[in-house]
Amino acid sequence: MTGKIIKGIAGFYYIHVKDSGIYECKAKGIFRNQKIMPLVGDDVLIDVLDEENMLGNIRSIVKRKNELIRPSVANVDQALLMFAVAAPKPNFNLLDRFLCMMKQKNIPMIICFHKIDLIHENELEIFQNIYLRCGCQVLFTSIFQEGEMKEVKSCMQGKTTVLAGPSGVGKSSLMNILQPNANMDTGLLSEKIKRGKHTTRHSELIHIQEDTYVMDTPGFSSLHIHEFEADELKEYYEEFLPYAGTCKFRGCNHIKEPGCAVKQAVLEGNINEERYQNYTLLYKDLKEQRRY
Ligand code: ZN
Repeated sequence: MTGKIIKGIAGFYYIHVKDSGIYECKAKGIFRNQKIMPLVGDDVLIDVLDEENMLGNIRSIVKRKNELIRPSVANVDQALLMFAVAAPKPNFNLLDRFLCMMKQKNIPMIICFHKIDLIHENELEIFQNIYLRCGCQVLFTSIFQEGEMKEVKSCMQGKTTVLAGPSGVGKSSLMNILQPNANMDTGLLSEKIKRGKHTTRHSELIHIQEDTYVMDTPGFSSLHIHEFEADELKEYYEEFLPYAGTCKFRGCNHIKEPGCAVKQAVLEGNINEERYQNYTLLYKDLKEQRRY
C-alpha cells in the first residue's frame, strides 16, 4: 500500500492513504535499508500489520523530488507566500530572502498579495510587474471572497504546497478556509496522536482534497539563508539573468564591478531598484558570515 507521510511524532509516522485514511506506522528497518530518516512529505510503501486499528510499518521510501530543511518536508511542489501589501508594512527584504531560498531549491513560487483593498490599484500593478519578472506567479486577495478563494485553491490543486508568510498577513484565515474540507482526516488524526498534542509544534501536512496537501509554516521572521554562498546569490534573481551575460567581467556579482550591465539596467529602470538594493544587502550579509 502506498501513502504520504503527513506527520511524524516520537518515532510514529502518520501515513495518509488515498481512499483509506490515516495509518499509524513505525519505520523499522528503513534507516538500515535506505540510510535515510523518513520525512513529512515522503511517499512511502507500507505493510499493514493491523487493518482494524490501521497500524503498519514503512517498508520503503520513494526517492525524494526535493527536501527543505526549514520547515522539514520532502517533495514540495510549490511555495505559496502570503504577504500583506499594508498593515503590517511589507518587509520586502524578507520576501526576497524567501524567494532566494525557494529558487535555490528550484521550488516554484506563488506570491499572494493580501489586503489589496488597502492600497491603490496602480501600486498593485507595480507589485505584479516586479514579481512576475522574478518568475513568480502573483495572486491578489483582499478578504478571501469566493472568487478569490477559487483562484487560490486552483493553484494548489493536486500539489503539495508550503504556505509561508509573516504573522498577521492572513495566513491563518486562509488555513481556516482551506481546512474544513479536511475535517474527517484531521479529526481522525487528532484522535490517534493525542499523546503528541502537548509537545512542541511539529510540521504537518494537511490533506485538503485529492492529492492536495498544504503545510502551514510558522512565521518566518527567523529566516536565514546561510545555506548558500554570496557568489551564487545572483543566480536566484531571475530578472538579472537577461543582462548578466553582457557585464564586462565574467562572474560579475553586480556590486562594484565596472561595466556592469545589471547596474545599468537598474539605472534605466528595467530592474526594480528596491529588489536590487535588497540584493546588495543580502550579498554583504552572506560575505560577512563567511568570515566567521
Ligand atoms: Zn554585473
